[in-house]
Amino acid sequence: MKVCLFNSHRIGVVSDTGVLDVTEAFSSVPRPSWPYPQSDWAIENFESARVSIEQIVATGAPIPIANVQLRSPVANPGKIIGAPINYKDHIAEANADAQINHGKTFTELDKLGLFLKANSSLIGCGDEVRIPFADRRIDHEVELAVVIGRKAKGVPRESALDYVFGYCIGLDMTVRGPEFPTFRKSPDTFSVLGPWIVTKDEIGHPDNLDLSIRVNGQMRQASNTKYLIFGVQRLIEYASAMYTLHPGDVIMTGTPAGVGPVAPGDVLDASIAGIGSMQVRIAK
Ligand code: MN
Repeated sequence: MKVCLFNSHRIGVVSDTGVLDVTEAFSSVPRPSWPYPQSDWAIENFESARVSIEQIVATGAPIPIANVQLRSPVANPGKIIGAPINYKDHIAEANADAQINHGKTFTELDKLGLFLKANSSLIGCGDEVRIPFADRRIDHEVELAVVIGRKAKGVPRESALDYVFGYCIGLDMTVRGPEFPTFRKSPDTFSVLGPWIVTKDEIGHPDNLDLSIRVNGQMRQASNTKYLIFGVQRLIEYASAMYTLHPGDVIMTGTPAGVGPVAPGDVLDASIAGIGSMQVRIAK
C-alpha cells in the first residue's frame, strides 16, 4: 500500500487512478494529548485503522494525483536520523573533493556514528527547497528512507525489518562546509520525504533497490541499495543500540556517489524502484 499525506494533512492511499482520502478510517482512533508521545500518531495507529482503510480504498472515489499537494508522508517523526558515508563510491568522492571533506578523511560509518536532522527541516515533494545562503555550496543527496513502525530498542539485525513500517524517497539536502553535519543538514526545507510511503510488504528486500536523481533532466546519481555498507537491518541495529526508535522515526540510509550542487530554479527528479518518483523544485 502507498500511504501519503496531502493538502491539509489528509491521510491518503495512492492507487493507479489517484489518491483515496482515508482520513475517516482514523476517526475512532484516540488523538494524543499533551505531553505528546514521541511517535507519529498516524503511523503508530495505521494497523488498527487498516480494515477501515481497506473498505474506503475499495469503494471510494480517487482524486487525480495531479490535483493534490503531497506533504511529507510522515507528519511528526520523533527524529530524523542520517547515515553518513554509507556507500563506498561516495566515501571515495568525498575524500577526493576538498569542498566535501574540509580536511577530514572519511573511513567507516561506525567511526563517525549517525547524525540527526532537525524535524523543522522536513517538507514533502509538493513544497520547494529554499537555499538559505547564496555563498555556500548546497548539494543534493538521494537516499532510501526507512520509516519505523514499532518501538525499537536494542534490536538485532536479524529481526530489524519487523520494526519497519515502510520506505520512501529521501533527499538529504546538505550545506557543504566544516560545521557539524547535524547543523549543515538541518536548514528549513533540507529534509524532503516523498512521494509516499510504500508499506514494507510491497518491498521484497530494501537492500536491492535502484535509486537515482536527475537535476534538470541530467542524471547525477544512479546506484542500488545493495551497495550500502550498513544495510537497512544493520542500520536499525546500530541506531536502536543508541536511540529508542518510535513509530514514525525516519532513518535516511546514506547517499551514493554523484552528489553535486543545486541552484535556484533547479528541478530534481528522484526515483527508487518499488517506491516511485518525485519531483522537487529548488525555489527561485
Ligand atoms: Mn546523506
